[in-house]
Amino acid sequence: MTLEGVEPRHRTNGERQPCPFCPGQEHDTPHESLAYRTPGSRPDGPGWQLRVVPNKFPALRPDAGGTFCAVEGMVFLTTPGFGRAEVLIECPEHLTAPTALSPNQFAAVFRAYRDRMYTLAEDPYLAYAALFKNVGAEAGASLGHTHSQIIALPVVPESIEAELSGSDAFFARTARCVFCDLASRELADGERVVARSEHFLAVMAYAPRYAYEFWVLPISHTSRYETLTDADAHELAALMRRVLVALDKVRSEPAYNWFLHTAPLRSAELPHYHWHIEVLPRTARPAGLEWGYGCFITTVSPEQAATELRLALPPVA
Ligand SMILES: [Zn+2]
Ligand SMILES: [Zn+2]
Ligand SMILES: [Zn+2]
Repeated sequence: MTLEGVEPRHRTNGERQPCPFCPGQEHDTPHESLAYRTPGSRPDGPGWQLRVVPNKFPALRPDAGGTFCAVEGMVFLTTPGFGRAEVLIECPEHLTAPTALSPNQFAAVFRAYRDRMYTLAEDPYLAYAALFKNVGAEAGASLGHTHSQIIALPVVPESIEAELSGSDAFFARTARCVFCDLASRELADGERVVARSEHFLAVMAYAPRYAYEFWVLPISHTSRYETLTDADAHELAALMRRVLVALDKVRSEPAYNWFLHTAPLRSAELPHYHWHIEVLPRTARPAGLEWGYGCFITTVSPEQAATELRLALPPVA
């Protein structure tokens, strides 16, 4: 695996003409489940600033039938393909780079994540809302028009269970949140910090899977993303945007994913867990060691990556 072999992100090869996410094409998507619209404009018509619609090709469906089978000792467990799959169309303009969103548009994305989580939590059969974004074909994007995905699951995913139990064990030993510890130690040390705002921190992952992997988290403790205020959304968006602009500059617009890790739906505030966003740039191609053993090799240290990104940061808007 080499850094040199990885090219800038490519346009998606599944582009459709006309773009189904552009205004005037609302008939090409299922009925919207959330829209920020100009007052007086009609649902499923133009006049929106942001739209959330069910995915036309859903991985999970709210009406999925089938049987749930999880008998102790059985090898093959099954569960119906129940859940929701939605697409969050982030702006009416046909923009493909998230960094091209205006500050208000970028902030609206984070507000919409929160607003959808509140609505999805009303369904008692949904356990977890996965909110993520694929940028570039190499990171799994099939349409260029900038969008996020929301997949609401009937179970808590394994990676979140691992974070919940790991942070719970740390809390049991130390009576502290491991993410609060991470934020305060990284801020005190500074070596891996890329940028911070009043309430949020962008820091390189201490043990990255791909070079330039960074995390963004609130500096003060909170386990539930739903507590994000509109002012927080603006501040978070501004910080994310600055670091992504720097990443695009330093790594020549790599493909990347970002994903929100937060407490399960309807969770109480947890003292040991702390929501965060992980940004995973595709700066290398995973091969046998990564796929087969979960061991990741990087050729740029997080400290070096932090230095490069700090130097490339645009000024605070
Ligand atoms: Zn479009
Ligand atoms: Zn915390
Ligand atoms: Zn995480």
